[in-house]
This record gives sequence, C-alpha cells and structure tokens, in this order.
Amino acid sequence: MADILKPTDENLRNLREFLRLGGLLAVPTETVYGLAANALDAKACEKIFEAKKRPSNDPLICHVASYEALESFCEPNDVSKTLADAFWPGPLTFVLPKKDTIPGIVTAGLDSVAVRSPNHPVFRKLIEGCDFPLAAPSANPFAYISPTQAIHVQANLGDQIEYILDGGPCEHGLESTIVDLRDPAYPEILRYGALPVELIENAVKRRLLRPTRNSDHAGVSIAPGSLPKHYSPRTPLDLRPNAVSESELVESDQKTAYLLLRKPVNARANNIHWLSENGELEAIASSLFAKLRELDNAGYQKIIAEEAPELGLGLAINDRLRRASFR
Ligand code: AMP
Ligand code: MG
Repeated sequence: MADILKPTDENLRNLREFLRLGGLLAVPTETVYGLAANALDAKACEKIFEAKKRPSNDPLICHVASYEALESFCEPNDVSKTLADAFWPGPLTFVLPKKDTIPGIVTAGLDSVAVRSPNHPVFRKLIEGCDFPLAAPSANPFAYISPTQAIHVQANLGDQIEYILDGGPCEHGLESTIVDLRDPAYPEILRYGALPVELIENAVKRRLLRPTRNSDHAGVSIAPGSLPKHYSPRTPLDLRPNAVSESELVESDQKTAYLLLRKPVNARANNIHWLSENGELEAIASSLFAKLRELDNAGYQKIIAEEAPELGLGLAINDRLRRASFR
C-alpha cells in the first residue's frame, strides 16, 4: 500500500530526489490529484501509463513552476504570454509546439505538448525545487472518476505506487481547461475545465472555438484522450437536463441515488444527495467527483444526476457528467 506523506520539508526533499531518479509520485494540485514523473525521463513516464492502464495515444500534461521554464521544451507565443500573465499559476493548460527535449511518450508522438503551472502551495513547493518539468495526468485508473483527495488515490492506485503526497482536498475538483495555442491566430478550447472559458475569452478579447456539445470534443484528432466515456462510475448514471421534480423524489426507491445540484426543500430520504447548498457552481464542481465516488461505492443500481446551467463552470461540470453517463 502506498504511504500517504505530509508535505514536510524533509519529505519534499526526499520526494524530489525520488522523482529525479525516475520514481512515480501522486501529488496534490488545485484541480485533481496527479500521478507525477520527471517529464524528461521516458522510462519514468512509461510507468505512468502502466500504473493507470492509460492508452499510449493519450498524451500527458507537463507541469512547470514558472512561465520561464517553458522555453526549454516548447515554443511559447504572445497569446500564451497574455494568458499566463492573467491566469498562471492556475487551472489553465496550453498546447504549444514542442521541442525535442520532451520524449515522444509524453506527447503520444504529437509535435505539440500540453503545459500548465499549478497553484497548489504543496505542489509549488515540490516543483520549485525540481530542475525538470513534471508530467502528471490525473492519479486514477484510466477512465475512472478523478481523485480529489489523497485517500481516493490510495483506494485506486495504492497497490501501484509507493508514495502519495497529501495536500488536502483539491480546491477546484475538476481538471484544468485546455486551450490549443499552436497557432496563436486561432486559439481553440480543447477541454472545458476549472477555469471558465468566458474569462479566457475576456483576456484574449475574442470568442474562441469551443468543443461541441455531446461530441468527442471539436479537436478529437489533436486531443486524443478526450473520449466520450470518461470520469465514469461503475454504477450506470442517467443525466437529466432539468431539475428532478419533488414528486419523483418522494416516490423514488432506495436502489436509485439522486444527485441534485442543490439541497432540496424536503431532503428526507437517504438516497437523495446534493452537490451544493444553493446551486453555486464552484461548490458543485469541487464536490462532484468525491460525491460520484461515494455513490458508486454505496451499492446503488443507478444514479440520476442533474445537468448544470450551460455557462461558466457549468460547461465543465456538464462535460464530466455527460462522459460519466456515456454507455
Ligand atoms: P489529463 O488526463 O487530465 O492529464 O489530461 C490530459 C489531456 O490533455 C489528454 O487526454 C489530451 O486530451 C490533452 N492533451 C495533452 N497533450 C496534448 C497535446 N499535445 N495536444 C492536444 N491535447 C493534449
Ligand atoms: Mg484524467
């Protein structure tokens, strides 16, 4: 079983050395927990794919301490600079042309690389002492629900890895937003995520191409990991475009879990669950994956979930819910 380690100075020092020598480590970020390895070490990155059973055509995101660190392995541009000034460190990932320093396994053979600078204090402390970027996908088995607490990683990957660095529950609870900046004249959103697209559009002063609803993402050919089924509980999940009615809740049987966006007026039955008190999107996002896991482990035959409004964080919440419901 993996050891869950507190972020003491001594542990961080040892873990940096462990990573430098090619080790695999689960790390906290403000989005979800990641499974990190030295991004310049192809053998170390291979272990990420093995541990997650992730297909080799699904590229990894590389994490850096600062914008300056990009120069050594990719080609930034004016738009990446503008967006980094506005949102880094934070939950925004850029896809940029790559340099040869990054091994092909990290980018699934693509000539671009995904990069981000996270703002979780524990992650920052760890990476600021590393002289290499960290490749880190979410620390879950491929296509299962992403982990937002150290114990989630322990439950799913505890047998595959030695250490989990504990940074508490993740603030956002959803993966980063990914924007394709290979051609700065035509930036394109590849994945909705924890940074609302409207804020990105304000920063670049234009509307961006976005993934289309109910599709494999607009950029499926260049964002190959964006599968229609992902983030999925084992329990079948049905998604409702509108709020579930009071009468349906009252008549529901205990084998079906209801996952509501907000606390209902009458919440008597214990098969009725909610993601926030009053429908606030930040609260819904940050509790979504933990709640899905809880329901998936509670022995229900079905989960019925409500869609969020189609704006701001609601776009990312619905993207995850739709993939979780795909059968
Ligand atoms: P995650 O599994 O949350 O770490 O996200 C990784 C995702 O980022 C992949 O599944 C791809 O969709 C996307 N991605 C990573 N690298 C690239 C790239 N070079 N070009 C396009 N999308 C990428
Ligand atoms: Mg993932």
